[in-house]
Amino acid sequence: METIDLTALRNYTRRTGQATHPDLLDARPLDHVNKIEIDEEHITVEYDEKITRFYNANEITHREWIYKYNDDPEFVAAVGKVIELARRHLKDLPENIACPPGCAECCSGYEPFVSKADVERIAGHFGMTYEETLRRYVVERPSADGFHVGWLRKVGDDIADQCVFLMGSRSGRHYCGIYEARPHDCRDFTPIGCGDVDAALPRKTAWKVGPAFAPKRRGRSPNGKRL
Ligand code: SF4
Ligand code: SF4
Repeated sequence: METIDLTALRNYTRRTGQATHPDLLDARPLDHVNKIEIDEEHITVEYDEKITRFYNANEITHREWIYKYNDDPEFVAAVGKVIELARRHLKDLPENIACPPGCAECCSGYEPFVSKADVERIAGHFGMTYEETLRRYVVERPSADGFHVGWLRKVGDDIADQCVFLMGSRSGRHYCGIYEARPHDCRDFTPIGCGDVDAALPRKTAWKVGPAFAPKRRGRSPNGKRL
């Protein structure tokens, strides 16, 4: 058993303020790493051991080294945290990679920015003019660089209100009423690491969405009411 001291490496990082680059490491011992384990107190690295047996003697070419580092609990805890996070993500990924059908929690309390191209797409989807789409569905706040023209309206004034295009509710499931034409901001939204997920919804059941969002007609209804 041998102890490898990484203090010099950490001093280098402290002195230069630079993360230690793998090129600066003597990584030769890692050629024969068999196992690395991290717990609250130790980082344990086990190396391969190759034993060639002769008639009356053994030749050990790669000794088994166990490296334990427990002088700096903060360091060990930090490394442990990274490993744990990586493990959790690996474990969570298959579940998180798709939203549970009908969740759409992010379509409330979040205001997707829209570009001119987004408004044009939504206008084309409804067969409406650009100007009317902008007036009806967008809170106009052009960005300084002119790329965004504003954000999508909500059904009310509260920041937690839902997007004007969000559909469904009675079943507890929601869906986007303009899915094919939704803004890029919504397309780019990733469920990975999402903290808003509606955990009550099953992920595996098939669920058929309802009708698409239909803009209210302008004019008067047969009973004379303004639409
Ligand atoms: S899981 Fe997150 S990203 Fe997906 S629909 Fe729900 S709130 Fe939105
Ligand atoms: S446009 Fe669709 S996806 Fe985007 S916030 Fe509104 S309902 Fe959600």
